[in-house]
Order: sequence, then structure tokens, then C-alpha cells
Amino acid sequence: MGPSRSSLKFWAVIAALVTASVLRCAPLEANGGILNYRAVFKPCYGAKDAVKIALREFERNGSSRVLIVDTASFQTEEVDASTIDFNREVEKKVWRKTPFASALYRYTAGRDGLIHNDGIIRAEAATPGVFLTVDMCPSKRSFNRDLFASTIALPVKDRPIAIAVSGLWIERHRDEFNWIVEEARSNRLSVTWVNHSYSHPYRKGVPDEKNFLLSEGVDLDKEALGLEVLLLENGLLPSPFFRFPGLVSDRRALERLRALSLIPVGADAWLAKGRMPGPGSIILVHGNGNENRGIEKLINFYEEKKEDFKEGRLTLKPLKDAFAR
Ligand SMILES: [Zn+2]
Repeated sequence: MGPSRSSLKFWAVIAALVTASVLRCAPLEANGGILNYRAVFKPCYGAKDAVKIALREFERNGSSRVLIVDTASFQTEEVDASTIDFNREVEKKVWRKTPFASALYRYTAGRDGLIHNDGIIRAEAATPGVFLTVDMCPSKRSFNRDLFASTIALPVKDRPIAIAVSGLWIERHRDEFNWIVEEARSNRLSVTWVNHSYSHPYRKGVPDEKNFLLSEGVDLDKEALGLEVLLLENGLLPSPFFRFPGLVSDRRALERLRALSLIPVGADAWLAKGRMPGPGSIILVHGNGNENRGIEKLINFYEEKKEDFKEGRLTLKPLKDAFAR
């Protein structure tokens, strides 16, 4: 006996759902012209013998492109592959000592068991600055525009902000995303785009060791690279920083992150959890409408410290400045 008409219909629906989800999770070839996006690790010399590392290779609109990081400044850049001379070898003893490679190895040193809040959590050297990181996990709510507006209104140079963005948040909040991008293009905000994974897996009630990126079947490489492609398609530069969803990782996840040359970023001042920032703190708030208590605390902090910001006794700093050089 063959399958019944209703079971055929059931499988047709499943097939359509699978196709739709594959298409949704693989926007890579669909627009932006980015193909063959892959992680590499190729140290090379730039101008004035600056040590750089090519981290990604890909094709954009038919030409070979490279995402490269400056090992002293942690600044990434997209360049044409033909502009880099890979023939001049950088010895391991040279690139391994650079601030970028040292930080990458230090913050991805695998440890056994479940790990919360791994990675850099505060500045490595004394500074009057704090580092604002804003998580944009997938959300059904509107974003906290007031968080961005209050940051733009601060009397600090460049208004630096690190936005840990997920692909699904971008997909579902196009207008809000475009608004932030426009604020950055107009130099009202200076955004470091931190990788918060593409789909940001999360299942309520599931223990942390089997949740977030540690969920069964999750491919961390695809999650991280997929988000980078989405940023590049939108004309934005991925930074070499990664924030684990839920701040949850384990040895395997850290090893994958090292292989992708991504430095994990935790926080020592998750405002909604009652931790207030001190000098050098990495501040964590959610800007996706899911944690308004944190936003209220941040805006109060801005208000309380108004004079300190004005007089330069306190400032916001870009995330790359949290690393000692
Ligand atoms: Zn998140």
C-alpha cells in the first residue's frame, strides 16, 4: 500500500519548510555578490612592515578579496587579494608575539567544562574609559532607540559602541538595523561590529551546557561566517571579536573560535544583573528591547556621570583599545 494522500501532503509541507529555512539561513549567494567565503590564517607584511593577518578569503562581484586584520590596532579591512604579497614570509616567532595573536591565544585557551563569561571582560591596562557593548539577539520587540540616542548625545569623541549583532535580528529588524547603519555612516556613532552568531540558538528551560551554541547540531563555523557575510553584504566590516550567545562556551567552542581567529568578549558590568561599571569595564546591555532594566541603568549612569564625561574624567572607548599593546 502506498502512502496516503494526507501523509504525502505532510511531507510536501516539511520539504517546503526545510527549503525555506535553508534559503533563509544561506543568504550568502543570494545578494551582495559574495561567494566562497572561507576562514584562512595567512600572516603577511603591509606598508612599513606592519604585520597583518589575512583572516578570510572570498569573491565579491568576481574579484578576489581578503579580510585582513592589523595585528597592532586590531582594525580589520577588506582589500583586493592582488594588493597583498604572500610570498614574503612572516615567521611564526614574529606574528605570534603581536598583540592580536597574543590576545587570540590567551582568550581562547581551552578549559574543561562549561564556561560562563570567557574572554576579555575589562581593559587590560588602566584607563579612564569604559567599553559599551550592546547585544542584539533575535527579538520580537522593537529595539531601544533611546539607548543609541543617549549615546550619540554624550560629549565624548567619536561615540564608540560595540554592537554584538545576530543575523536573525538583522533579518527581522531591517528598518532598525538600517537606522543604526545610517547613524554610523553619518559619524554620529562609531560602531565595532561584533559577531553574535547568525541564528543565536536558544531554547528556554534547557540547561546551559546543551543550549546556545552548545546545542546539538549547531555548527559554530557556519554561525560565525554566515553573520560576517551578512555584514559584508551590507557594506559593513566584521571585527575580529565574538560574543557568545548567553556568554556560554566550552573548550570545543573556544577551539573553534581560535581556528576562526575570533576573540571572545565577555563583560564585567552586565547592568541588568546589577553590576555597575568602573574604570576599564566592559559594559553589557541588550539593545533589542528584551532587557529594558539594563537600558534604564545605562541612561542613569550617563546622567550621573555627566560632568565626568564632559570634563574627560570618564569616556567611552572603542573595544580594540581594551587590549594592551
Ligand atoms: Zn544574545
